Amino acid sequence: MWHVSPFPVPPALNEKKIIAVLGGGITGLAAAHRLTTLGHRVQVFEQGRLLGGVIRTELAGGWLIEAGPNSFQESALEITALLDELGLDRDRVEASPAARNRYLVRGGRLVPLPMSPPAFLGSPLFSFPAKLRVLAELFFRRRTRPSDLSLGDFMRSHFGRELVDYAIQPFVSGIYAGDPEMLSTRYAFPKLWELDRTHGSLLRGQLARARVNRAQGTPSMAKIISFRRGLQTLPDALAARLPAGSVTLGAQVERITGGGSHWSVTWHDGRLSHTEKFDAVIAALPAAALARLPIGAAGESPLAGLESVVAPPVSTLFLGFRRDQVTHPLDGFGVLVPALEKRAMLGVLFSSTLFPGRAPEGHVALTVMIGGSLQPDLASLPPDQLWAAVRHDLRDLLGVSGEPVFLRHTFWPHAIPQYNLGHGRHLAAMAACEQASPGLFLGGNVRDGIALPDCLRAGLALAEKAAR
Ligand SMILES: Cc1cc2nc3c(=O)[nH]c(=O)nc-3n(C[C@H](O)[C@H](O)[C@H](O)COP(=O)(O)OP(=O)(O)OC[C@H]3O[C@@H](n4cnc5c(N)ncnc54)[C@H](O)[C@@H]3O)c2cc1C
Repeated sequence: MWHVSPFPVPPALNEKKIIAVLGGGITGLAAAHRLTTLGHRVQVFEQGRLLGGVIRTELAGGWLIEAGPNSFQESALEITALLDELGLDRDRVEASPAARNRYLVRGGRLVPLPMSPPAFLGSPLFSFPAKLRVLAELFFRRRTRPSDLSLGDFMRSHFGRELVDYAIQPFVSGIYAGDPEMLSTRYAFPKLWELDRTHGSLLRGQLARARVNRAQGTPSMAKIISFRRGLQTLPDALAARLPAGSVTLGAQVERITGGGSHWSVTWHDGRLSHTEKFDAVIAALPAAALARLPIGAAGESPLAGLESVVAPPVSTLFLGFRRDQVTHPLDGFGVLVPALEKRAMLGVLFSSTLFPGRAPEGHVALTVMIGGSLQPDLASLPPDQLWAAVRHDLRDLLGVSGEPVFLRHTFWPHAIPQYNLGHGRHLAAMAACEQASPGLFLGGNVRDGIALPDCLRAGLALAEKAAR
C-alpha cells in the first residue's frame, strides 16, 4: 500500500476543489483524470493492489492474456479524443479485418453470421419461415408497450422465436453473460427500445439511422480496438497522468458522511481506519459495494436495494495451442454458442486473430467464456474441470487436438451487473441518493452502461458534474 496525504492544500490551489474518487476501475480513473485536467485535486481510493478494476492484462512467455475485457468499441468522438489526449494513438490497435466474421453454432456446426441481406437470405443459420418472419418485421407497426419488457419477449415480438434462440440469446451471452428472458430491453438496450418507440420496426429504424449516418459521414460500425500491450494500457495511462500521491491503494472505503462541500471519507488499510475530508465524492464502485456503503452520519445505506442487482459468475480460460493443434482457420472474432446447443461454453474468442502479439510465433490463443446467468454453477469449477468441460466443444467446433501448451484461468464471482427487469428502481434509488446528498456523485457500470466506452464516458461526465 502507498499513500500520500493530500493535505495541506497549497495556497494557490485553495480555490480548487479536492474530490475523493472511490474505486480505481476505469470509471473512477477516467473521472480522476478529467478532474485533474480541469484543475482540481483528486484522491482515488482503491481497495485492491492494482488499478483498472476488472481490466487485467498479463504478459507471460510471449502470451498476452486478458483476464477480463478483451476489446472495446471506439464508439464516440469523446473516446477518440481521450485516447489522443493520453497519447495512446500509437499504442492503439484495431481488430484485424478477419475479425469481421463471427460464428454461431447450429446443429453442432459452426455457421458464419450473415453480414448482409443477401448473405442472410442464403444462410443455413435460419429456416425459411424464420427468414420470412424477419423480413416481415419491416412492416411492424408501433404499438403500445408496457413500461418495460424482457429482451426475449421484445425480440420475439419483432422477429419470432428462432431469431431469439439462435442469434439474440447467444449475443446477450457474449455481451452480458446474461439471460434475455430476464434482461430489461428498456435499460439494457435503450437504443432498441427507442427505435421501437419511434419507428415501430427495428429494421426500418436501423435503415433510417444508417441514412442519417451516411449523410453526416459517420461510420456505421464503430472500430473495435485494444492496445499493443493489451487493455491494461488504458488504466495505466490514466493513472500515470495523475499527480504523484493521488492514489491510495489497499484502501477499502468503509463509510462516507457529509453533504454540500463537506464530505468525510473513512477507509481501512487492513490495520487501521483513516478519515479524510473532501469537497465532493465520486463513487465509482460495483453495485454490491454501493449497496453496502454507509452514507451519512447515522450509518444508513440508502443504496441497500442494489444488493439485488444480479452479477453472475463467469470464468475465462485463456488457452494457447501450437497452430498445428487447431484445424479451423480461426478467421473471425470468435464463436457464440446458443443455449439450445447445450455446450459447456458461452463462446470463444479467437484472441490471436483479433489483435497482433497475443501468442508466440507458430501458436494461437483462444479465450473461452464459461458460466453467466444461464450456467452459473459451471463458472466456479477449477481450471482442470473447466478444460475437461470445454475440450470436446473445442474439438468438435474448431478441430482442437491435444492439451493446451498454455492455460490461464480467471474466475469472476460477480462479473457483469445485469440490467434485469425492474432495473429502473435501482436507477431511481441512485438518483434519489444523489439528490439527498449534494456533493455526492454516483456512477460506474451499474448505472451508465456496462461496456468500457460507457464507463469511460460516465467517468468523464461524473468529473464534469462534480467540478461544477
Ligand atoms: C470477464 C469480463 C469481460 C468483459 N468484457 C468486456 C469487453 O470485451 N468489452 C467491454 O467493453 N466491456 C467488457 N466488460 C465490462 C467492462 O469491463 C466493465 O463493465 C468495466 O470495466 C467496469 O468498470 P468500473 O470502473 O465501472 O468497475 P470495476 O472495474 O469493477 O472497478 C471498481 C473498482 O472499485 C473497487 N472497489 C470496490 N469496493 C471498494 C471499496 N469499498 N473501497 C475502495 N475500492 C473499492 C474495486 O476493487 C474495483 O477496482 C467485461 C467485464 C468482465 C468482468
